Amino acid sequence: MNVSVALPDSTLAARATRVASIAAQHADDVDAAARFPKEAVDALRAERLLGIQIPVHLGGESADLRQIADICCILGQSCSATAMIFAMHQIKASSLVEHGEESAWHTSFMRRLAAEQLLIGSATTEGGIGGNLRNSICAIHVDGDICTLEKDATVISYGSEADAILITSRAHADAAPADQVMTVFLKDQYSLEKTHVWNTLGMRGTCSDGFLFKGKAPSEQIFPKPFAEIAAQSMLATSHLLWSGVWYGIAADAVLRAQAFVRAAARKSPGVAPPGAIRLAEVSNKLQIVKSNVIAGLKAYEDTKSDPDRLMSMGFAIAMNNVKICSSETILEIINHAMLICGIMGYKNGTPYSLGRHLRDAHSAQLMISNDRILSNSANLLLVQKQDTSLSI
Ligand SMILES: Cc1cc2nc3c(=O)[nH]c(=O)nc-3n(C[C@H](O)[C@H](O)[C@H](O)COP(=O)(O)OP(=O)(O)OC[C@H]3O[C@@H](n4cnc5c(N)ncnc54)[C@H](O)[C@@H]3O)c2cc1C
Repeated sequence: MNVSVALPDSTLAARATRVASIAAQHADDVDAAARFPKEAVDALRAERLLGIQIPVHLGGESADLRQIADICCILGQSCSATAMIFAMHQIKASSLVEHGEESAWHTSFMRRLAAEQLLIGSATTEGGIGGNLRNSICAIHVDGDICTLEKDATVISYGSEADAILITSRAHADAAPADQVMTVFLKDQYSLEKTHVWNTLGMRGTCSDGFLFKGKAPSEQIFPKPFAEIAAQSMLATSHLLWSGVWYGIAADAVLRAQAFVRAAARKSPGVAPPGAIRLAEVSNKLQIVKSNVIAGLKAYEDTKSDPDRLMSMGFAIAMNNVKICSSETILEIINHAMLICGIMGYKNGTPYSLGRHLRDAHSAQLMISNDRILSNSANLLLVQKQDTSLSI
């Protein structure tokens, strides 16, 4: 007799959905305790989702940014912290994928990342510099084959949990603030002395504590490309797009809760439109605006990706900045609208319609590289760059 055993669905979306259901079970506790979402990150590893962006020939799955953004969105609907940790890890992986293959060390590190499902953290923010990631105060010191770095890294998400950290600094002691490099340090090559505790309004499970970072490693772990090129050619776009994927997911779940509230009211009074029905239509419209914005941004990135000159262009930078500004501002309107629909049941914690966590998490979006900083950057570019008025994507 033939006994066929059904294998689990191995598509990226199905694997992400399984992780999301685990993340959802722990999301409230992760938020309340401001703790690392260990169960969900273990599940990401078990589903082998941490290495999907690494090229197939290095042991990954060559997943593209659209697929990764979709996973961010799926996770964002369950647990914002898990989704943001996944997004930040993939942003770091994109630096390796786009700029690492010209170096033997970074190529072999990508193999390890995929094989061992390593979790990668990021340290760009620095005391005295804030979110101005294209400037550093600290400088890496290269002595023969060895490099050392000390950085007052005021925000490193899941710093204590990461297997490696990609960290920016000036290229050498005499370098200008914008003459930067990025270096990979493995967990056993650095120490972290906690300087700030991440006790925040939202995104509490990202555990983005501040640390004094001290690292020592072979100097071949410094990316051969200047950080200016890495930032402009991949990090700017992948950050704004994957963060937006997470934020869209948070807002989408808020709308689902508002819709469930309106439907429950409709069932109680058949034939009468519930009071929140019109607001639900409005909020569905706003959600579609964010979705269209993110999808258009992802398409622009895919179309531009193979052309480094266009990636470095002012028009592309403005377009990516606009994706971030739109999604980070509009999700607050959306969740607020959902709260008006659900009323006290949305305001209270512990109901099927609770939206407090969504709203608190969403407030981080405007600060994650301050929108004011991004707008002033776009404003400078728009002094010379002609506004794109076409409808072509
Ligand atoms: C959930 C979360 C996770 C994070 N994880 C990490 C991480 O893993 N690694 C990491 O390195 N960083 C991380 N960050 C930091 C983040 O990306 C920003 O760099 C940081 O939050 C900016 O801090 P800031 O507001 O103090 O800094 P600043 O950018 O210095 O801004 C301070 C204020 O000054 C104003 N301002 C500054 N510059 C300008 C300007 N040019 N024009 C107009 N106004 C200006 C803004 O209004 C802003 O509110 C994380 C942040 C969040 C919210």
